[in-house]
Amino acid sequence: MAQHIRIALAGNPNSGKTTLFNCLTGTRQRVGNYPGVTVDLKEGTIRRGDVDITLVDLPGTYSLNAFSEEEVVARRFLLEGKPDVVVNILDASNIERNLYLTTQFIELGLPLVLALNMSDVAKTRGVEFDLDHLSALLGAPIVPTIGHKGTGVEQLLEVAVGVALRGSGYSDVHLSYGQEIETEIASLIPLIESHWDLAATYHPRWLALKLLEDDAIIRSAVCTDEIIAAAERSRNHLRVVFRDAPEIVIAERRYGFISGACQESVRSTVEIRHTLSDQIDAFVTNRLLGIPILLLLMWIVFQLTFTVGEIPTKFLEFLVGLSRAFLNDVLPAGMLRSLVTDGILGGLGGIIAFIPMIMLLFLALAVLEDSGYMARAAFVMDRVMHRIGLHGKSFIPMLLGFGCSVPAILATRTLETRRDRFVTMMIIPLMSCGARLPIYVLFCGAFFSDSARGYVVLALYILGILLAIAMAKVFRGFVFRGATTPLVMELPPYRIPTPEGVLIHTWERTWAFTKRVFTFLLVVSLIMWYLSNFPVGPDASLSPSERINFSYAGRVGRLLAVPLKPVGLGDWRVGTALFSGFAAKEVVVTTLGTLYNVADTSEESISLRQAIQDDPFFNPLRAFVLMVFTLIYLPCAGTFVAISRETKSYRWPVFCALYLTVLAWSASFLIYHLGMFLGIGIQ
Ligand code: GDP
Ligand code: MG
Repeated sequence: MAQHIRIALAGNPNSGKTTLFNCLTGTRQRVGNYPGVTVDLKEGTIRRGDVDITLVDLPGTYSLNAFSEEEVVARRFLLEGKPDVVVNILDASNIERNLYLTTQFIELGLPLVLALNMSDVAKTRGVEFDLDHLSALLGAPIVPTIGHKGTGVEQLLEVAVGVALRGSGYSDVHLSYGQEIETEIASLIPLIESHWDLAATYHPRWLALKLLEDDAIIRSAVCTDEIIAAAERSRNHLRVVFRDAPEIVIAERRYGFISGACQESVRSTVEIRHTLSDQIDAFVTNRLLGIPILLLLMWIVFQLTFTVGEIPTKFLEFLVGLSRAFLNDVLPAGMLRSLVTDGILGGLGGIIAFIPMIMLLFLALAVLEDSGYMARAAFVMDRVMHRIGLHGKSFIPMLLGFGCSVPAILATRTLETRRDRFVTMMIIPLMSCGARLPIYVLFCGAFFSDSARGYVVLALYILGILLAIAMAKVFRGFVFRGATTPLVMELPPYRIPTPEGVLIHTWERTWAFTKRVFTFLLVVSLIMWYLSNFPVGPDASLSPSERINFSYAGRVGRLLAVPLKPVGLGDWRVGTALFSGFAAKEVVVTTLGTLYNVADTSEESISLRQAIQDDPFFNPLRAFVLMVFTLIYLPCAGTFVAISRETKSYRWPVFCALYLTVLAWSASFLIYHLGMFLGIGIQ
C-alpha cells in the first residue's frame, strides 16, 4: 500500500531551500492552496519506492517569532499543517546564525532532519564539522549537501523519509534555559496540560516558552485568563530577576546553546576572520560610499532595462503592429474587426511589448538579490528611509515601482509589519512606472524642445518621489502610527549567483506579471473597448472620433471634463483618455490616437504628436499639467487588483485610488494656476 508523507523545507533566507526544492521536485511543483496565507507556499509531489512524498517550500525565516508575515506563515504551517518531518536547511558557511532557527524546531518537538547545505563553501573557507557529535548535540540526523550540484540530496530525502516513517527521529534533546526560566516553564506546563484543547494543538513546553516570550499571536490564541495571568506573573518575576525582558534572556540562552554546540563540533582551520565578504562590505556599506555605489548600480540597472530592453520591445511592437495591419486586411470591416484589432491587440499590445523590459529589470534585480547585494542596499538605505518613517526594506519595492507597480506591490511581502507594508503599497503608484513613459514621450515631443525634454521628464520623476515621501510621512502620522520596526537583518555572505537560480527567479516573476496581463487586463481592455464602441452612433458614416464621442466612454469623458476644467484640462477627449487610462496608463496614448483620428498604428506617435501640437487646446503648460495628472491619478487596474489581493480587501485599493486622484487634482490645480499667473507656457 502506498504511503503518503509530507516534508516541510525550512531555513533562513538564502540557505538554498528553493534550490534543494527545485532539485527534488523538478517541474512537478505548484503553488499550494492554503487559505488565508499571504505568502505563497510552493509544493511538489514525488515518489520514491511506494512512498508518495509532498514537499513544501516554506518561506525563509531567521526565527519563528510572530514578527514578519513569513514567520507567521511558516509557523502556522508547522503547527497546523503537521508535516511528518521538517527538513531544516542550514547554510554551513554561516552555521551559528542558521542554528537559531533550528533551536525553535527542537522546541516545537517536530521530527527534524538537518541539511548542511553550502558544504562546499564551508569547505573552501576551512570550516570542518564533526557531524556525529553535532548531530548528537542537536538530536537530529545531519546530511551534508551541495544544493546546486545535487550532491547529497537523495541521501537527505532518504533520511527524511526514514524519520517520517518511524514517526520521530527526534531524541529528546533539552535546550536548557537555566534554573530560573525552567522553573517558570515547569509551573506553566501543568496549567497548559489541564486544557486538553491546547495540549492537543501545541507542544506544552513550546507553548510555555512562547508565553514567557510574550508572543502576541500565541497570547491571543490562548484565551484562558488563568494561563495568561500565570504567564504574566512569571514574566514579571523573570524581569525582576534578570533586570531584562524575558524574551531577550531566552534568546540569549538559545545563542549560548548554539555557541556551546559549535565550539564542540565545528572547527575553523583558517585563522583569518576577514573574509572576502567583509572586505567588500567595508566599501559597499561604508557611510560615505554606500549611497553613491547604490545609485551607480541602480543607474546601470535602469540603463540595461531601458536601453537594451528597447530592442526586443521595438521588435514586439513591430510584430503587434504587423498583426493588427494583417487582421485589418483579412477581417471584414465591422465590430469583429474592431474587437480583435482595437479591443484585444490594441489593449494588450502595448503591454506585451513592454514585457522584455520588465524581464530585464527582474533579471538584474535577481542577480543583485542572489549575490547578496540587495540586503546591503536595504541596510544602506535604512537610515534615509527611517527619516520618512519607512523601513529600509521598503526601498526595494519602491525601486521596482519605477519598472511596474504590480511586481513592486508583490515585493512588499518582504516587509515585516503590516504597517510598513501598507504605507509602502500606498505610495508605490507615485513612483513613475514604465507605462507613463509613452505619455511623457508624446507630450514632451510635441511641446518641449530637444534640450528641455530630459529635464521635464526628470522633473516628473522627482515630483513623484517627493510626493511619495510627503505621503509616507502623512500616512505614518495619521493612518499607520507607531514606531518603525528596527532593521534586524544580518548580511548574508556574498555569493556568485548561479545562472539557474537567477533564471528561475526571473522567470517566476515575469510569469506572474504576464499571467496578470493576459487574464485581468484582457478583461479590462474588452470592457474599455465595449465602452468606447457602444452605443453605436445613429449614422454608420461617423468618423472614429465622432463614434467615441457618442459612446459611453465619450459620455464619461464629457462628464469628467467638468471637474477637469479648473485644472486646465476641461476637454472631453482628455477626459475620455484619462478614463481609459484606468486599463493601463499607456492606454491614454492609444485612446488619444483614436480620438485624433490617427488610424495608422505604426506611425501613431509621430502623427499623433503632430495632431496634438496643432490642436489649439494644448499648450506647453496644459501638456505639463496633463503629464502631472497622469503621473499621480488612479493606479492602473493591474495595480488596483494587486493591492486588493495583497491587502485582501477592496477598501485599500479604493482608498489609494481616491487619495491619488485628489492629490493629482490638487497638484495639477496648483501647477496650472501658478503657470497661468507667471505666464509660463501659455502661448
Ligand atoms: P533560498 O532563499 O533558501 O530559497 O535560497 P536559494 O535556493 O534561492 O539559493 C540562494 C543561492 O545559493 C542561489 O544562488 C543558489 O544557487 C545558491 N546555492 C544553493 N545551494 C548551494 C550550495 O550548496 N553551494 C553553493 N555554493 N551555492 C548554493
Ligand atoms: Mg527561496
